Amino acid sequence: MGNSVNRVGFAWDDTCLGHVSGPMLRSDTASSWLPTPNFESPERLLACRQVLQASGRLDLMVPLPPRRASLDDLRLVHTAEHLEMVRSSEGFDGPALVGDAICAGPGTWDACRAAAGAVIGAVSEVVAGRLDSAFALVRPPGHHATPDTAMGSCLVNNVAVAARYAQQHLGAGRVAIVDWDVHHGNGTEDVFADDASVLFLSTHQENFYPPDRGHVADRGSAGTTVNVPLPAGSGDEGYFSAFDRVIVPALRAFAPDLVFVSAGQDAAGTDPLGRMCVSADGFRGLARRVLDAAGGRVVAVLEGGYSLGQMPWCVLAIVEELLGVDPSFERDPMAIDGPTTLRPEETAAIDRVVAELAARPVRS
Ligand SMILES: [Zn+2]
Repeated sequence: MGNSVNRVGFAWDDTCLGHVSGPMLRSDTASSWLPTPNFESPERLLACRQVLQASGRLDLMVPLPPRRASLDDLRLVHTAEHLEMVRSSEGFDGPALVGDAICAGPGTWDACRAAAGAVIGAVSEVVAGRLDSAFALVRPPGHHATPDTAMGSCLVNNVAVAARYAQQHLGAGRVAIVDWDVHHGNGTEDVFADDASVLFLSTHQENFYPPDRGHVADRGSAGTTVNVPLPAGSGDEGYFSAFDRVIVPALRAFAPDLVFVSAGQDAAGTDPLGRMCVSADGFRGLARRVLDAAGGRVVAVLEGGYSLGQMPWCVLAIVEELLGVDPSFERDPMAIDGPTTLRPEETAAIDRVVAELAARPVRS
């Protein structure tokens, strides 16, 4: 470890544990699904924090005080009707379906305000220069939530709210959002598709969730949307190539004042929902690339990631990159045998995005 570590905020709020996600039901097939436990659980946060703690890395981070997003904060992205719907879940007896694959219950509204508030608090400290970067370990996740729709475990789009907050209240100009969650960040894309001041970059498993989203040709009217759909089974090398050839060059071309990472670790090899093979070492490499392109100013926010065994190692690796300390483990102990070289289908998928960007480049 070097003599000094970067100043990295740790945004955490026990209130985020109070959202009980209920059974994992798709609204179109709800009647035919068994009411199975939901992968999007409070244990996800606790498992990650425990590994950060056990590794000693949590002691190197700067704890951020809890903060609730106000209604005005949330209105930066969401409609009044949508927020009223989420708020009304306070009166539910228990979790009830409020959208495609998303339930809300008595603790949900407070958890949403705590999660979005944590990200606002983190970005405020980073923009003020009191922190170099931050990791917000929050739930419920946000990147599927559109201005007026809850879906896919998401109700309030934490990253979108904080990005708008940074622009409107903190003087941030151009903002970039790198979404490496295995699912497509349709909500975030919808919020910023017409906004030339926000660059949205998404890597995701092709033809996955939500259906028919995240295509290479989907560039938004502002041309600041970039989608990198990757074939199932992609591993560290496929992701590194996607970042080296698309994500990092786009970030450098856009030259944002601030970079968010929608950090969902459900592309990890053992994730029960994703079908990718990324290891904790892979996530370390992705974090390194984003940090280099962003000049170190990064706010990483948990989105998905459902492997209670592997995700904590992925989060630890990301945090170690933010801190600028040496890895505390040699190789991801949970890594599965994935492709060790770039597969032709991954190269072909990335080639398509490179061609799209050559025809219609990202500019600052
Ligand atoms: Zn996801």
